[in-house]
Amino acid sequence: MNRPAKKVFAASRLPTNTGVSGWVAMLPPRQAKPRLAGRSTADVVIIGGGFAGLSAARRIGDIDRALRVAVLEAGVIGDAAAGRNSGFIIDLPHDVSSEDYGGDTIAKNREAIEISRTAIALASAVAEEQRWGRTIFDPCGRYSVAISDEGDRHLVKYAEGLAALGERHQLLDARGIADITGVETYTSGLFMPGTVMVQPAAYIRGLADSLRDPVTVYENSPAVRIEGDGGGEWTVTTPHGAVSTGRIILANNGHAESFGFFESRLLHVFTWASMTRAFDPGHLRGQRNWAATPALPMGTTVRRIAGERGDRILVRSRYSYHAGIEAGNGTLRRAGAKHDQKYNARFPTLADVPMEYRWGGAMALTWNAVPAFGEIERGIFAACGCNGVGATKATANGIAAADLMLGRKSRLTEIFARFEAPRPLPMQPFRTIGAKANLAFKEWRAGAE
Ligand SMILES: Cc1cc2nc3c(=O)[nH]c(=O)nc-3n(C[C@H](O)[C@H](O)[C@H](O)COP(=O)(O)OP(=O)(O)OC[C@H]3O[C@@H](n4cnc5c(N)ncnc54)[C@H](O)[C@@H]3O)c2cc1C
Repeated sequence: MNRPAKKVFAASRLPTNTGVSGWVAMLPPRQAKPRLAGRSTADVVIIGGGFAGLSAARRIGDIDRALRVAVLEAGVIGDAAAGRNSGFIIDLPHDVSSEDYGGDTIAKNREAIEISRTAIALASAVAEEQRWGRTIFDPCGRYSVAISDEGDRHLVKYAEGLAALGERHQLLDARGIADITGVETYTSGLFMPGTVMVQPAAYIRGLADSLRDPVTVYENSPAVRIEGDGGGEWTVTTPHGAVSTGRIILANNGHAESFGFFESRLLHVFTWASMTRAFDPGHLRGQRNWAATPALPMGTTVRRIAGERGDRILVRSRYSYHAGIEAGNGTLRRAGAKHDQKYNARFPTLADVPMEYRWGGAMALTWNAVPAFGEIERGIFAACGCNGVGATKATANGIAAADLMLGRKSRLTEIFARFEAPRPLPMQPFRTIGAKANLAFKEWRAGAE
């Protein structure tokens, strides 16, 4: 009789983080959870402790408290992209425009909103349970801000799209948005109340800490090898341990490709942020907490964060493509120079308040903007491909993967079942050339925004 064939997926590379995240630096020091050591078994192994992995773990714990879940995080919880983003958990799609605002587009946008609000519901439940204050989890909404005629037009059109969807919003003129931001830079704004703003490192640490036995998070425990016996049993190996299981959720975003999954289907794009040192709140008029995304895609995100030791400004801008999912200090420096330009143009009264922290992080986009999702080997479920807005989308990917793995029918599994598979990207070197040219063109189009 033929013995079932063994399968081995070995990691060709592990994640690295570039720069120092201001969000982590603002938090008190924390003792990392123990690494995986020795041999063990689990009902489910989750690879990756970001939005997707931790949300999947949380969802599994909510559904079946008896399942032994091992979450393996390569580094320290909160140090990777999920803890170093700009902290927008956004409920609305970036593009709600349509020529006729009719049928299919409206239905697709409503589904996208439903996905986002399912993610926000999970985050809100954790926030309530953990009694987080507004410095960690603030359902304050966000502004989209314009700085040019084209930006103004885009906001008006976007507002029309929201009206067609029945979504609450408020357009603000230059005066109205200046009252919020305290600067005269913006020509108009659009307020959308459904976004939740988080301190991302505190959120992701808190989400990990909210998981209860028999869900265990192991830090500094990169999965380096996944080996299947061909009969449904998988062993995941880390540098100091190994855990055997029947079910795996792969929640390591772009690094799914490092194991050979979704090869040539994930586009590894980084984005970059800088954060000022704390300044006296009296030096900037306006509200002490606000968060604004740009009117045009690829523009600059800005956030003001009030703290006990003063306020800080966060600037997120620039995208860069890195086929090897690793970016160096040169890219960090160039992004930082761009941030300084954007910051100086927006906050002339803060000329003597320099940036204190700069960092970047990896995202995994797909050509057709769908998640890299589903059962990709018997017993291995993917919750990858965050498509840039992972605070919401990766959270939803994690919830949906948990539901699918547990055989539980939900609105998310129904919607996700209709997604296409990620389309193949152009072959190298055309992929790199195309990605870089495309990002450069879109950034040029975003102009001052
Ligand atoms: C500067 C910046 C600003 C951003 N702003 C926003 C924002 O405001 N809103 C928003 O929605 N999105 C934002 N994003 C994007 C967002 O951070 C990502 O979409 C999101 O983190 C993706 O979540 P994830 O769980 O899929 O992946 P990740 O957060 O990347 O988590 C994957 C985890 O897997 C781990 N891992 C990888 N390989 C292995 C392995 N072999 N073994 C074990 N663990 C492994 C990694 O260390 C990582 O912790 C921003 C990103 C950056 C960099």
